Amino acid sequence: MRLTNMSKCNLCPRKCNVDRDISLGFCQCRSLPIVSKTMLHRWEEPPISGINGSGAVFFSGCTLQCVFCQNKAISRAPVGRITTPKELASIFLELQSRGAHNINLVTPTHFTDSIIEALDIAKPTLHIPIVYNTSGYELAETLKKLRGYVDVFLPDFKYYDTALSAKYSKAPDYFSVAIKALSEMYSQVGQYTEDENGIAKKGVIIRHLVLPGCRKDSVRILEEIKNTLPVSDIRLSLMSQFTPDFVPTECKELSRKITTFEYDFVLKKAIELGYDGFFQQKESASAKYTPDF
Ligand code: SF4
Repeated sequence: MRLTNMSKCNLCPRKCNVDRDISLGFCQCRSLPIVSKTMLHRWEEPPISGINGSGAVFFSGCTLQCVFCQNKAISRAPVGRITTPKELASIFLELQSRGAHNINLVTPTHFTDSIIEALDIAKPTLHIPIVYNTSGYELAETLKKLRGYVDVFLPDFKYYDTALSAKYSKAPDYFSVAIKALSEMYSQVGQYTEDENGIAKKGVIIRHLVLPGCRKDSVRILEEIKNTLPVSDIRLSLMSQFTPDFVPTECKELSRKITTFEYDFVLKKAIELGYDGFFQQKESASAKYTPDF
């Protein structure tokens, strides 16, 4: 059963309203999912990767397309295998049989409907948590379809400032969209919890990547999230791994890694605001932690 009429795709805030079987929208993808890579991913946050690894399914295409994207090889154009919902369900079950702690849907937004179909097919035997790993640029209406399917939301929260989100992601409305999406995510999964082995069972883990020269924007984001959600119920993954390797020359201000001062400035504020979560070492700011597509 197809859940949505993809002849007018409005799944994400781009609202292209195109028939994806005939034309391409902003995400550059046809209707069926394109899977670029599957793997037991060991470099996610500890409660996601655990010991065995997270069952990552990397989808091609993206609804955001940030200038500093580490996954440009697969996010800018469709690269990978066209996959039916039935095949996707088999991928999920195969990752589970290899010991994955969860199914980690990486950049899933533009394939939401097929993913729901695949989860329905796999449901009788799929018993590990489903992680929705997204840019945060999500329509609340689309997220509502996922109620009961997703256990852990793992959204980025990238920008407060509209000029930054316009320049780096062509999304001046990023903050206003992402903060509503975050409320919807929290309303679905509630307080963050882990199992007896420290693996995330349900909840919201917000990722924030500190960008060079943007530490005040980072702090504003943390303040706004605290004004929206009880921070004791969520986890924050504060990332220092920005790497300039993928940045185009016209964004000169992003041609460096962040400094220890910048990261510590944001970290100190996060702790003051009551956030709990996962904090990175600066050594992780390396392209070697990007999966090879
Ligand atoms: S999912 Fe793709 S085609 Fe649909 S609205 Fe978003 S960018 Fe446009």
